[in-house]
Amino acid sequence: MSIAVSGVSKLYGQQKALDDVSFQIDKGNIVGFLGPNGAGKSTMMKIISCYIPQTEGTVKVCGYDVMDQSMEVRSRLGYLPENNPLYPEMYVREYLEFMGGIHKIPSIKSRVDEMLEQVGLTLERKKKIGALSKGYKQRVGLAQAMLHDPEVLILDEPTTGLDPNQIVEIRNLIKSIGAEKTVMLSTHIMQEVEAICDRVIIINKGGIVADDESKNLTSNNHAQVIRVEFDHQIEVNKINSIQYVNEVKRVDDNTWLIGSDSEKDIRPFIFEFAVANNLNVLTVQKEEQRLEDVFKKLTSS
Ligand code: ADP
Ligand code: MG
Repeated sequence: MSIAVSGVSKLYGQQKALDDVSFQIDKGNIVGFLGPNGAGKSTMMKIISCYIPQTEGTVKVCGYDVMDQSMEVRSRLGYLPENNPLYPEMYVREYLEFMGGIHKIPSIKSRVDEMLEQVGLTLERKKKIGALSKGYKQRVGLAQAMLHDPEVLILDEPTTGLDPNQIVEIRNLIKSIGAEKTVMLSTHIMQEVEAICDRVIIINKGGIVADDESKNLTSNNHAQVIRVEFDHQIEVNKINSIQYVNEVKRVDDNTWLIGSDSEKDIRPFIFEFAVANNLNVLTVQKEEQRLEDVFKKLTSS
């Protein structure tokens, strides 16, 4: 187990930012921590990274307690904070060597070279951090987080503020890093999770509202749901008699949602049915439930 969070609550004065949060992340997973602004994502990540203490509950990273064994945790964990604070006056190489010194990394120069190569910063290594584009600054932040070769990476909104091309680059970089490490990344962008994560934990108002594999969250109750519009009315029990149909819902007079648990595409059966009943089919559409819909439903209260 890379990360084990159990019954964690956090109070800021009177305000409860986290309320009895529990989850576990296995080694080698890329997990998306999804939630609207103010949900408690950064608070949870700061606690896991030993930056702030929780009010209640326990957090373990690679089996070590964040309160009692924070040095053990820090040596196994890399953290990219929200807004990626860097030193703009420092040069890229200089900064990474400085950070490597803090971690007491042996043969720091060759390790920095390796990281510069991995995040694609070799050509920028002599530039001042302040002169870099946002995407390149983010790469410096990632290099910093990975410098001591941690098993676990905590990335707080790693693509926020980047342009679309930079987003794709950083996502690909995270995916390649995720092949070897446990990655927990927060985001308020649903597509991000669909693009990179094996699993998603959704948090709203300090509480976990969903925790599942991305593909399970988006799957319908039925294997397929087809939206059909006929040119005139038909009785519901007739539609129910179509082969492989498990559930029928009326949307309006002539429009229906037809659900089936069959692996077979039921659309040909719907067409056959229409012909047999003198109906014309005006539209047929496969309904897709996207993660975005699930997210909206779970975080709207
Ligand atoms: P997210 O990262 O999901 O946007 P945060 O963890 O930053 O959410 O914040 C969760 C809640 O806790 C918010 O209501 C926020 O205003 C509050 N909060 C965060 N940090 C502090 C702090 N240092 N002091 C007081 N309240 C805070
Ligand atoms: Mg945040």
